[in-house]
Amino acid sequence: MTNEMNSLVKAHPLEGLWMQTAPVPEVGPDDVLIRINKTGICGTDIHIWNWDEWAQKTIPVPLITGHEFAGVIVELGRNVKGLILGQRCSGEGHLIGKQSRQSRAGKFHLDPETRGIGVNEHGAFAEYLRLPAFNVVPLPDEINDDIGAILDPLGNAVHTALSFDLLGEDVLITGAGPIGIMAAAVARHAGARNVVITDINQDRLDLATKVADVTPVNVSRTNLVDIQAQLKITQGFDVGLEMSGNQTALDQMIEAMVMGGRIALLGIPPGKSPVDWSQIVFKAITLKGIYGREIFETWYKMIAMLQNGLDISGIITHHFCVEDYDKAFATMRSGNSGKVVLDWRTA
Ligand code: NAD
Ligand code: ZN
Repeated sequence: MTNEMNSLVKAHPLEGLWMQTAPVPEVGPDDVLIRINKTGICGTDIHIWNWDEWAQKTIPVPLITGHEFAGVIVELGRNVKGLILGQRCSGEGHLIGKQSRQSRAGKFHLDPETRGIGVNEHGAFAEYLRLPAFNVVPLPDEINDDIGAILDPLGNAVHTALSFDLLGEDVLITGAGPIGIMAAAVARHAGARNVVITDINQDRLDLATKVADVTPVNVSRTNLVDIQAQLKITQGFDVGLEMSGNQTALDQMIEAMVMGGRIALLGIPPGKSPVDWSQIVFKAITLKGIYGREIFETWYKMIAMLQNGLDISGIITHHFCVEDYDKAFATMRSGNSGKVVLDWRTA
């Protein structure tokens, strides 16, 4: 192995990413080195590419970006046990501390010291990634590298969807982005009665119906109330999964919920977003904010569901060799794709 690798770097405080060589990371005693096979492009990576306000105040420059990956373990730190060279894996991109009350209680996903690979620390858009062995998630043979590379956002979908009991429930998902669509597939798999997904982008709603057995509603043309009536959802939706970050969508969701309904919020509004709190109170609605994935319960559940019939493969609409990363990012930035996967093994 040479000690240099290709990587996609936020090298300048400007729009774009740059393919640069970087040293192969050195592995500490508790780390592993992963040779990257495939990576997924996330909405976060688009923020970083665009160099928007959030990126400018969050991302150190230079930084190797990317946090959605699948690869193979090629080096083990001297303290690492229970993993082997050649093991295919993905991994949790949130690096947690071990000192907080939450971590010491085993609620690792609630650790306030969390740092993200590809956001705060060097990431996975590279030929090699150093990761704490603790964060590694081995991949069973039946989960290929394409799916392995999108387990991070699938995990967001699974964490959100499994926040509340879905069996027999009527579920409303606002936002048919990749995560909303995967959440729809999960809700169906988990036994929901009706899964309704809204968006204002018809291409995305069309993709949703290819990936999951859902009722798509283009809320720029169709009244959600009419669809509820057709589906005989007379008193409102039991569970809401907010996956757009859009103010109008959240208002519409609160309006459409049943008394005592439960809402899980994954979508990130661009700034402060007014909410009609009296509706939340009078409808006795439960709200739950969702960040990341439960470490590692979400990973366990999603792998178990993938092994047991959950099929989200249709959400990957585009593959590119990493040399064509500019085309890959343009596709993702168009807003009309599902997940876009980069192949790192062609270089
Ligand atoms: P995305 O931007 O691809 O999808 C959002 C979708 O919402 C788009 O298709 C958009 O057309 C749609 N939308 C816009 N206005 C709407 C409206 N009025 N009604 C219904 N839909 C509308 O995002 P994604 O990658 O699928 O992620 C979903 C959300 O989750 C984003 O807000 C993202 O920032 C957030 N996110 C949060 C976490 C977390 O840990 N909390 C992690 C990943 C992503
Ligand atoms: Zn992501």
